[in-house]
Amino acid sequence: MVDIKVARHAGFCFGVKKAIEIAEEVAQSNPESTYVLGQLVHNEKVIKTLEGKGIIFVEDIHEIPQNAITVLRAHGEPGTTYEILGQKSITKGKNLNDATCPLVTLVHNVAIKLKSNGYEVIIFGKHNHPEAIGTSYHLRGNGTFIVEHEDDYRQVIDHIKNNNFGKIAIISQTTMSVLGYKKLIENINSNFGNKFIEIPLALKNLDVKYGFVDTICNPTKQRQSDIDELAGDRDMIIVIGGKNSSNSKELYAKAKEYGIDSYFIQSAEQIQKEWLNGKQRIGVTAGASTPDYLIDEAVERIKEITR
Ligand code: SF4
Repeated sequence: MVDIKVARHAGFCFGVKKAIEIAEEVAQSNPESTYVLGQLVHNEKVIKTLEGKGIIFVEDIHEIPQNAITVLRAHGEPGTTYEILGQKSITKGKNLNDATCPLVTLVHNVAIKLKSNGYEVIIFGKHNHPEAIGTSYHLRGNGTFIVEHEDDYRQVIDHIKNNNFGKIAIISQTTMSVLGYKKLIENINSNFGNKFIEIPLALKNLDVKYGFVDTICNPTKQRQSDIDELAGDRDMIIVIGGKNSSNSKELYAKAKEYGIDSYFIQSAEQIQKEWLNGKQRIGVTAGASTPDYLIDEAVERIKEITR
């Protein structure tokens, strides 16, 4: 019998749980007329379940009818979304239910405060991720400098050298790799005179000329630490998560960095018998938008295959 260990923090974070609760509650009193802009959370199965409860998902804001009951996703939205919805008479306190995670709002507030204190803010994040797009809105909009990978540190240095910024601060999307962020800062510092120092999240000291703020959320950190733990005594790791889930993809990337056989799946039926050949200690983890039942099904399938 193989030994299966499920990571301590596998699955839903509180932000995702809350967003789903909000959407379900709203849809219960407004079946077939509740709209969600974009993926509420990055998990296809969760979206399917919510669609089954009568929620209508749209990718284009213009598909939302005038006056419609609307829920905004956990990843946050740029201010333009609120403006367009306002023109459709969709407003907070009336028919707009904002499921933005408070930890994403915190990053928006950090960006706003840094900007208003004279900082040019650079984001470590994914160009096409709704959270990075939402945070960019508070800075330079489309013109905000976003760096996706620690190896792209030269682009950051060139951006700084090619412009005449007074003060510069780097912040991160909540779901990025903790190690990746650390390496990015190290790479910049080793090629830029060790200038960047940490500005604590409370943003008390804003006299620093070059700083970075740790805005990766704790649930993301916990799930990434779980990989360190699993890597210590597992000979295979399975990560369950939505295809678009940034934090799930980071977990998979981290597991692979350890050189352990690792697989990224969306659901149990994708687990192949041959993956498990000769494996004795299997680790299972899941991103912050993966429901518990998908984790249970994966564990059951591993048990069935190895029985
Ligand atoms: S991953 Fe972090 S920021 Fe995103 S919803 Fe969960 S707690 Fe909030």
